[in-house]
Amino acid sequence: MNLVIFGPPGAGKGTQAKRLVQDRGLVQLSTGDMLRAEVSSESALGQKVNAVMKSGALVSDEIVCELIAANIVANPDVAGFIFDGFPRTIAQAEALDQLLAAKSMKLDAVIRLVVDDAALLDRITKRFEDQGRKDDNPETFQVRLDAYNTQTAPLLPFYTKQGLLREVDGMCAIDEVALGVAGMLDRG
Ligand code: AMP
Repeated sequence: MNLVIFGPPGAGKGTQAKRLVQDRGLVQLSTGDMLRAEVSSESALGQKVNAVMKSGALVSDEIVCELIAANIVANPDVAGFIFDGFPRTIAQAEALDQLLAAKSMKLDAVIRLVVDDAALLDRITKRFEDQGRKDDNPETFQVRLDAYNTQTAPLLPFYTKQGLLREVDGMCAIDEVALGVAGMLDRG
């Protein structure tokens, strides 16, 4: 089963993806985590993307698609993938379809976590205090939210047309959201 966990920054994508790894043995592919690892290791790629990530803007489609392609190849014979924070543009979604098709795979569902903007800001503010992620400060968060609204939200009609979009209320506690996701997957 191959899933996309979808939503704006702070919606809880990473948290719910980790639940799906635990509960269903899926492999989580988070482009944000991959890019942060590149930045921490100060690789050539990390140095290239650092400023863009700090600003809250999106890294180029080419870079993230290459990371995803490499990670799909590096994980043969898995129960499936949970794509977290990817795709974020229509071009990325089209590239993902092609990458999966090349391996005779496809997406089974896109799970949208629905959370309102005020709750997102609360969560990101708390994560900034707890984890100190530089791009969680309120100004950069606004840039990230704008990027979501302009570049990523167009994926909603894209996946609706394909009959893949499922919505789960992401406003409640982590366990309840996980139950909502599980129920939705089990209903098919
Ligand atoms: P995230 O942890 O998913 O919120 O990602 C953190 C940052 O990494 C984003 O604000 C972007 O700068 C970059 N990033 C992560 N995933 C993508 C993606 N699929 N496309 C473009 N940029 C991305």
